[in-house]
Amino acid sequence: MADKKDYYEVLGVSKDADEKQIKKTYRKLAMQYHPDRNPSPDAEDKFKEISEAYGVLSDPEKRKRYDQFGHAGIDAQYSAEDIFGGIHFEDIFGDMGVGGFGRGGFESIFETFFGGGAGGYGPRTVPQRGSDLRYDLHIPLADAAHGTEAKMRLMRTETCDTCGGSGAKPGTSPKTCANCKGTGQVSQARRTPFGQFITSTPCRQCHGTGKVIESPCGSCNGTGRVRRAKTISVSIPAGIESGSRLRVVGEGEHGVQGGPPGDLYVVMHIDPDPVFERDRDNILYELPIRFTQATLGDEVVVPTLHGDVKMKVPPGTQSGSTLRLRGKGMPKLHGHGKGDQLVKIKIAVPKHLSAIERELLTKLQEIEDKTGYGGSAGGTGNKKRKGIFEKVKDAFE
Ligand SMILES: [Zn+2]
Ligand SMILES: [Zn+2]
Repeated sequence: MADKKDYYEVLGVSKDADEKQIKKTYRKLAMQYHPDRNPSPDAEDKFKEISEAYGVLSDPEKRKRYDQFGHAGIDAQYSAEDIFGGIHFEDIFGDMGVGGFGRGGFESIFETFFGGGAGGYGPRTVPQRGSDLRYDLHIPLADAAHGTEAKMRLMRTETCDTCGGSGAKPGTSPKTCANCKGTGQVSQARRTPFGQFITSTPCRQCHGTGKVIESPCGSCNGTGRVRRAKTISVSIPAGIESGSRLRVVGEGEHGVQGGPPGDLYVVMHIDPDPVFERDRDNILYELPIRFTQATLGDEVVVPTLHGDVKMKVPPGTQSGSTLRLRGKGMPKLHGHGKGDQLVKIKIAVPKHLSAIERELLTKLQEIEDKTGYGGSAGGTGNKKRKGIFEKVKDAFE
C-alpha cells in the first residue's frame, strides 16, 4: 500500500478541486476505463483505482481525513466497502442510461473489489485458538542447580463446563438468528445502472455469530467462557538460566468454538543467593581463611551447591587467588557434566588478639624486622613495637 498513488493525481484534479469538478472528471474516466468498454487488461485495475480515489474525494469527511493523514488515515478508518459503497453510481451514470454496459461486468468488478463476492463476512463461528499465557516464575539458585517441580497458580479463560461452551442454559441450545438467518451478516442490495450492488455488515442481533441464546447459561452469563484459577505443575530442568522461557504446550487459554488451547510460557527468574554467585556454568564463592592457613597450607571444608567438600589450600596461597573445585558448579543445560566452583581466597585479618597470639605475632614481627622479610619500612614504628616486645618478653620470663 506504500506505493499507492495520490488520489488527486489518480483523478488528475487539483487539491482544491470542488465536488462538481471531481465528479465530472471521475465520470469521464469511468466511461473510459470501464472493462465492458475497454478491452485493455489494465482497465479493470485502473477502473478500481479511479473509483477508490473518487469514493474518498467525493465524501467530505473522507476527503478531509485524506488531506490530513494521507492513505494511512483512510486505510485505518475505512474498509473497501465503506469507500466503494459510498459511491452513488445513480448520480454518476444515471443520466447516461444503462446502454452500453453489461450488468454482469459491473458486478464482477465489485466482486474483485471485495475479494470474493458480496459479503466478506461469514458467521463468526470458526474455531479460534486460545491465547498464549506468560507466567514469571522465581526460584532459588539451589533449585536451578538441581532441577525442581514447580507449581504455579494462574488465572485463565476456560470453556464453561456447565454449558460446554455453547453459552446456552443446559437443556436448551442456541437458536439460529432470525435477523440474519444464521449467516452472521446482513446484506443490503442497491440497484445501480450496472446491476445490483450488495453491501454486507455483521449482524448486530447476534454479533456475527449467526446464533442467539434465548436462555443464557448461569455460570458464564451466556459467553460460554469463564475465568478460573488453575494450578499447573511444571518440571524445571537442572541448569536453567534466568530469562529463559519454558513452553508448556496447551496450558494457555482455552480455544473458542472447539479451537485448540494456547500455550503457557514460563519465564524463569533465579533469585540471587546470599552465598553463591552464578557465572553461567560456574559458581563463584569467596572463602575467608587465616593468614597462617594461607602461609602454611591447610585442608578446609567448603560449602557447594552439591554439599560440603574438602579442599586443600596450598602453602603460600595469596589473597585474591582462585582455587577451582572441578564439577561442583551448575549442571550444563544442553550437555553433560557440570561447571566448576571457583573459590576466591580472602585472607582475614584478626581484629582482636589473645595475649598469647599477640605475643607470638609480635615475636614474628620482630624476626621479620630483623630479616627484612616483607620489605619492612623500618623507622620509628618498629622501634616502638620493639619496646612492646621487650615488655611482653619480661612478663613471661
Ligand atoms: Zn456456560
Ligand atoms: Zn444474526
